[in-house]
Amino acid sequence: MFREILLGMNAPNTDTIFSKIIRKEIPARIAFEDEHCLAFHDISPQAPVHVLLIPKRPIRSMAEITASDSALLGHMMSVIPKLAEQLGIKETGFRVVANTNSDGGQTVYHLHFHILGGRTLGWPPG
Ligand code: 5GP
Repeated sequence: MFREILLGMNAPNTDTIFSKIIRKEIPARIAFEDEHCLAFHDISPQAPVHVLLIPKRPIRSMAEITASDSALLGHMMSVIPKLAEQLGIKETGFRVVANTNSDGGQTVYHLHFHILGGRTLGWPPG
């Protein structure tokens, strides 16, 4: 038990598959990276362009964001148009989605923005 606590095994679980992608322990097709955030192509794309933009600092979801995250979130918002341009969807259009908690359909509990484009997207979502 003491050993588990020392190893952080009883700490709140902030280590997800996305932490492993940040640490380059598992491969991902990276579209953008800087010291604060990382964007990579979704493994199961729902549109011709489907990229996930994540903060390197683990935040569980949109529901956990506080004022102390403002600068990080503002930075990430400023990355989105640059990414969209690089991905060729800036002019045609795109959608930014943050599925949040169970009713929101979140499956990975590390905040991420889906950036979807390359086709006309339906509305309302399911
Ligand atoms: P959520 O369902 O939480 O909104 O979105 C999680 C997304 O992560 C899903 O679209 C899923 O396809 C993607 N995803 C899950 N595991 C991996 C992975 O190992 N690599 C990549 N590139 N995407 C993943």
